[in-house]
Amino acid sequence: MSFKKIYSQQKVITALQKAYSLQKIPHAYIFAGYQGVGKFTTARQWAKLLLCRNPQIEKNGSSPFADSCSRCESCRLLDADSHPDLNIVHKELLEYTRNGKNKTTPVEFPIDVVREFIIEKAPSKPTISKRKIFILTEAEKLNSSSQNALMKILEEPPGFCSIILLCTRMEKLLPTTKSRCQVIRFSAVDEKIITDELKQKNLEPQKAGFFARLSNGSLGLACRWADLEINNAQLYKIKTEIINEIADYKLPNALDLAQKCLRDAKTIADVWTDLEKNTSKADLKRKAQKTLIQIITSAFRDAMKIKFEKPEQFINFDQKKKIEKISSRFKPENSAEKITSCYQAVRWIDDNVNEKLIFEHLLLNLNISDKIEAL
Ligand SMILES: [Zn+2]
Repeated sequence: MSFKKIYSQQKVITALQKAYSLQKIPHAYIFAGYQGVGKFTTARQWAKLLLCRNPQIEKNGSSPFADSCSRCESCRLLDADSHPDLNIVHKELLEYTRNGKNKTTPVEFPIDVVREFIIEKAPSKPTISKRKIFILTEAEKLNSSSQNALMKILEEPPGFCSIILLCTRMEKLLPTTKSRCQVIRFSAVDEKIITDELKQKNLEPQKAGFFARLSNGSLGLACRWADLEINNAQLYKIKTEIINEIADYKLPNALDLAQKCLRDAKTIADVWTDLEKNTSKADLKRKAQKTLIQIITSAFRDAMKIKFEKPEQFINFDQKKKIEKISSRFKPENSAEKITSCYQAVRWIDDNVNEKLIFEHLLLNLNISDKIEAL
């Protein structure tokens, strides 16, 4: 892996390269941006460069471009995920904390993980390198106590320590956390790059095009969906059925559709659980449920925009007739309401509300506009 293989994040790479060439490397970074746009890949590559014993500097015009050598001991250990001075800190480490045995991973980032895997480890010298790097994933899930615990390391880090917080929602971080870090913002990945990447995974052009558009610039998420196709979980078929059901929506079927969504979410989560051993099962289930809600949202988004967009611009460009039918049943303002209900459902998933209740509430509510019109 090389810096050159990071897609669509030229501004980020330029900022990091500049810091490197001036050797003005902040002790704490926040990599901010949506899920799946390359924050983790970039953080890992940055760590690889900082730890590399023989960094390669290319002189391209006026600005030098630094990359790791991929051959030294440090690079080889890092590529094998066993570098002693790179600490990837995620909330699933809870079960390896002193009192964490048999505890299930909570929605929030546990303070014990912050204490035992960052605060306690930071002061000791690096093992084989000159630096020690911490990458904390899902920083948006740090509550204020965990952020206050982190403050110690953000305020007075040992000279050899670098910490990178990966964050999808900056508003969840305290001003004191943000002010002590340099923020690097990641943008969405270009749709064409995502489509090409999915085609490389042997997805048919129509499926690749749909997933790329639905992902809204999240290459990571689109690849996860593609994995479902490759592993026979058939997300594309599931999405086709959901759009069909919404187009032919009838209130008496709402609970059946809710049941179907829960079953499909379970199928998806089971496949992801086999593929992603480091993520908690509960989190993958929540991600699967959010994927289905994202599909429901896409139906109403397309229906709402039908007057302003050509069918090939729809997310569901492959189910044009069904989108037309949805738009004939829901006025744009009704579709907008449904999208709001979908966002609310996603928030409830994050707040750990009962899943059956969320889907039943969402799907029963799809009927309200029809009722109002009938009165
Ligand atoms: Zn190296």
